[in-house]
Amino acid sequence: MRIAVITESEAQESRVAATPETVKKLAALGATLVVQAGAGLKSGVTDAEYEAAGATIAADAATALADADVVLKVRRPNAAELKATKRGALVLAIMDPYGADAALKAMAEAGVSSFAMELMPRITRAQVMDVLSSQANLAGYRAVVDGAAEYGRALPMMMTAAGTVPAARIFVMGVGVAGLQAIATARRLGAVVTATDVRPATKEQVESLGAKFVAVEDDEFKQAETAGGYAKEMSKEYQAKQAALVASHIAKQDIVITTALIPGRPAPRLVSEDMVASMRPGSVLVDLAVERGGNVAGVKPGKVVTTANGVKIVGHLNVPGRLAATASGLYARNLFNFLETMIDKSAKTLAVNWDDELVKATNLTRDGAVTHPSFQPKPA
Ligand code: NAD
Repeated sequence: MRIAVITESEAQESRVAATPETVKKLAALGATLVVQAGAGLKSGVTDAEYEAAGATIAADAATALADADVVLKVRRPNAAELKATKRGALVLAIMDPYGADAALKAMAEAGVSSFAMELMPRITRAQVMDVLSSQANLAGYRAVVDGAAEYGRALPMMMTAAGTVPAARIFVMGVGVAGLQAIATARRLGAVVTATDVRPATKEQVESLGAKFVAVEDDEFKQAETAGGYAKEMSKEYQAKQAALVASHIAKQDIVITTALIPGRPAPRLVSEDMVASMRPGSVLVDLAVERGGNVAGVKPGKVVTTANGVKIVGHLNVPGRLAATASGLYARNLFNFLETMIDKSAKTLAVNWDDELVKATNLTRDGAVTHPSFQPKPA
């Protein structure tokens, strides 16, 4: 059982899919680990540390991938990486499969068994493998840190000899995993925090963190949650009512953090140009949904823009990657926990149970075809 870990090819990807800790655990399960030279550097892990944990270092990606039975990655493999991967190999990564038909086809044609870690069911057994949660939690924390760094004032109230500094007002839009951590972090830093979401269950969560809930709580709102616990796309009428409430609230905020996503859909637009214009100069918006189109009008992927009225809109990409060492540590554990379920511990070999619900939910391609029901190629 040979497992390859390679350097992520996208320039802005600073994470790595294995750490010395997970290398050691996989080696203990009978695997031979091959890590591409320099793969961990952006996450603060040296080749020597991987070697000490039991891995062999390969000079380049092709050498690391040669004959690998399992490939651990952060992002889905590109064409060159697929070419170097043998047919039948398992590839585990964040595959970003929505609207990526060509990439799925390429993985199918390469004959790899690919697994999209972000499709892991959110059931108790799979919590330790939940990459959406492990990474979103860090993104929520980092959004507050980034917002605070762009904001030219202090967050906590301070009573000093030179006078009192008021606490900053922070509004968090979207209270999933990232939003909850943003609320907790903003509270720890002493801000006065409010939050909103379309899922009624979040009201209690917001209040339990010492923040105030702001939303139009009509009948549609009371039913706005899918069985899987995700947000539904709201009606135009609801969106208009909520926008009016939010508009008056946003004008009084110092930092707004948006995290609203709907699985498989573009991010909902929550903050209009007029709302941005209503904010005071020096205030900051941090848009964590920028990679899915953004919640904030005027957000630019990978940029911090300053509007004509002096409001900053922060659109950093790959926010978990801005905490690369921590993000890699948690991501690597998520991968290990899933891969461990595919290993026969006594025989020390791979033994995938294709009927396991976690395998079925995450498997995208196998034996030359796209296997996942949600991503079947459309008939020509
Ligand atoms: P997400 O990243 O899909 O979305 C972020 C938040 O945006 C969600 O709370 C969503 O309701 C909200 N949102 C969407 N449209 C909005 C709008 N128009 N206005 C305001 N907010 C809007 O969410 P997530 O962090 O992945 O969490 C989704 C669900 O999964 C939650 O119910 C969470 O508790 C649950 N969860 C369960 C587990 C588990 O293991 N059981 C683990 C993690 C998360």
